[in-house]
Amino acid sequence: MASIELKDVEKWFGEVQVIKGVDLAIEEGEFVIFVGPSGCGKSTLLRMIAGLEGTSRGQIMVGDRDATAEPPSKRGLAMVFQSYALYPHMSVAENMGFSLKAAGVKPAERERQVAEAARALRLEEYLDRRPRDLSGGQRQRVAIGRSIVREPTAFLFDEPLSNLDASLRVEMRYEIAKLHQTLKSTMIYVTHDQIEAMTLADRIVVLSAGQIAQVGTPKELYEHPANLFVAQFIGSPK
Ligand code: ADP
Ligand code: MG
Repeated sequence: MASIELKDVEKWFGEVQVIKGVDLAIEEGEFVIFVGPSGCGKSTLLRMIAGLEGTSRGQIMVGDRDATAEPPSKRGLAMVFQSYALYPHMSVAENMGFSLKAAGVKPAERERQVAEAARALRLEEYLDRRPRDLSGGQRQRVAIGRSIVREPTAFLFDEPLSNLDASLRVEMRYEIAKLHQTLKSTMIYVTHDQIEAMTLADRIVVLSAGQIAQVGTPKELYEHPANLFVAQFIGSPK
């Protein structure tokens, strides 16, 4: 059973169609990356999966549920926001446990889930610190930790590293790869950075003007690009 499946999904903003007949089955535990030039519809497609944008046509399945009409909170997916969204006056543990507290989860259970997330992200030593006393990379990990505690079916990332400087970007790329190995959760990740896509993805989905140009492993796309657009985007020698 696919973890997330898009069936002939389309999106119109008024008269303008930005997503056109997208079919895609994402397996449980898969790391799938959407790439493509600016404006091709990557964020819109991710936001539709999250439920932050409505679907004009087609179906979005989460597990065996039709989630097309479900609000974001019902889908069990976590959109990972960037680290600037941390609460400055709360400790790392409080930041990570906040959504659980808001959902009425009891303190003992909250503590267990926060401890587990902190272990996965190697943040155990920092649970009592405030965000301002952390490095940029640690803050980004706390931002991810806030989603992990909710034990989502899948993580959705929209260019999470685009505002970071080059060295932190390399560090976080490594962190995210390790996190995927540890959690083994489904991850859907948007980037316009080919290197990020080639190093992180199990499968890459190349989007062009709201349509899928090609889907494949990094190796498949590199060695057998379906057309010149994909070849140029992936940087393969066609
Ligand atoms: P990407 O993330 O690949 O850069 P987007 O998904 O943000 O692309 O945008 C795809 C297209 O949809 C663009 O032409 C953009 O201008 C348009 N678009 C995105 N959001 C809206 C909106 N809320 N209203 C109207 N047009 C939008
Ligand atoms: Mg975008």
